Amino acid sequence: MDADYDILILGAGPAGLTAGIYAARARRSVLILDTATVGGQTVLTDKVTNYPGMAETSGRALSQTMAQQARSFGCRVTPFARLSAVDLASAVKSVTYKNGDRVTARAVIVASGGVPRQLGVDNEDRFVGRGISFCATCDGEFFTDRPIAVVGGGNSALEEAVSLSQYASRITVIHEFDHFQAEPWIIADARANEKINLLMNQRVLSFVGDEGLTAVRSRDKSSGDVIDTAVDGCFVFVGYVPNTTLLAGQLALSERGEILTDDALRTSQPGVFAAGDVRQTRVRQITTAVADGTVAALSALDYLNEAVA
Ligand SMILES: Cc1cc2nc3c(=O)[nH]c(=O)nc-3n(C[C@H](O)[C@H](O)[C@H](O)COP(=O)(O)OP(=O)(O)OC[C@H]3O[C@@H](n4cnc5c(N)ncnc54)[C@H](O)[C@@H]3O)c2cc1C
Repeated sequence: MDADYDILILGAGPAGLTAGIYAARARRSVLILDTATVGGQTVLTDKVTNYPGMAETSGRALSQTMAQQARSFGCRVTPFARLSAVDLASAVKSVTYKNGDRVTARAVIVASGGVPRQLGVDNEDRFVGRGISFCATCDGEFFTDRPIAVVGGGNSALEEAVSLSQYASRITVIHEFDHFQAEPWIIADARANEKINLLMNQRVLSFVGDEGLTAVRSRDKSSGDVIDTAVDGCFVFVGYVPNTTLLAGQLALSERGEILTDDALRTSQPGVFAAGDVRQTRVRQITTAVADGTVAALSALDYLNEAVA
């Protein structure tokens, strides 16, 4: 089976870069393509303090080191790839660029991550990483003894609000409806927590601040009153969007669009593996993405070895 590369990896976040390190170190020819910059979501975070072995680093520094490591084993890493199509169904997989060029590979690891769903309100982009966060596990500690808001009313919003109460001085949960879409025990935990104040029936209008975030502005859907909730930080948990648009119809996905995998991170398509945040998984962290990258690469290597045997 002739192809340009043994393994093509889609995505140069922690999952894809780790897969690249393992696959290239096994002397396979490996190409990592990213439609944006190297690093994935890690470039959105200035401080990473929960990656073992690094007391403190920036997401960008961590991913640049991973990329260097992958390149040192011969892996080719190409950011800003202008892709127009991906074919995962054929025996030889391929991607096509917008200029018509095509690259083929014998196996593919999809590590295209995802993006937290945003509210799409004024000043949101401006304060992401500077007051607005989408990850309590990652950033909760930075708001120790400070007031914060949590936007959302599902399981993750309420669970994270309770978890953030170990750090923050006060948490205002701002929710769009007059009832939560969460399991009863999670709602009960949030209601019982003395640090948590529930602000229901509020549509978030904008984020307020100058250098840093100072308030979340919302409108009461019943009275029409506009309320500014004074905070130093705001955690937004209104869903997650996996980056699977280019793969549509080719892999089995969950109802939320996450790629379904087995324990070896095989997808529904032979020779195609998935790693990191793009797949259906409960925990989305750098450490879990890195672990997935390892497993997916080793499974892809097994697949290539079996194909020869
Ligand atoms: C603001 C923020 C702060 C965070 N802080 C922390 C933290 O402190 N600690 C921690 O452990 N975790 C943190 N996380 C979570 C962590 O960043 C993610 O879990 C991790 O980056 C997932 O890695 P990944 O490689 O699976 O996906 P991603 O990091 O999402 O990388 C996927 C890459 O694939 C690319 N891509 C998308 N579509 C395609 C395509 N079709 N073809 C090719 N490439 C494509 C994207 O451009 C992206 O570069 C944070 C997340 C956010 C949003």
